[in-house]
Amino acid sequence: MDTIFSKIINREIPADIVYEDDLCLAFRDVNPQAPTHILVIPKKPISKLAESLPGDEPLLGHLLLTANRIAESEGIDDAFRLVINNGEGAGQTVFHLHIHILAGRPFTWPPG
Ligand code: AMP
Repeated sequence: MDTIFSKIINREIPADIVYEDDLCLAFRDVNPQAPTHILVIPKKPISKLAESLPGDEPLLGHLLLTANRIAESEGIDDAFRLVINNGEGAGQTVFHLHIHILAGRPFTWPPG
């Protein structure tokens, strides 16, 4: 299913892209919830984490390591939060798997 994130991958709509490689793309969230708010997405259109397959294991590891490298390159390596919303009930609004990188403000626990 085509989502707004596929359109960003295909350069059909603009985004503030901070990183790209063969497997993934990272860009700044259009409605930031923290001073730094970046989304890391696979180029493969996986709708949500629960739809990923055993064969996606290297890709999912790559997304996590890429998120960490982006945090380092943004100078936020000591305190950041990664979030994956899976399903509407958990707050997912775009059905293309994405990792939120949030940083630059204090975070509470448990999350809201
Ligand atoms: P989620 O609620 O976990 O599905 O997160 C979707 C995120 O995508 C939200 O934080 C939105 O602000 C963000 N978003 C939606 N459209 C765009 C866009 N065109 N460019 C950048 N971020 C977007």
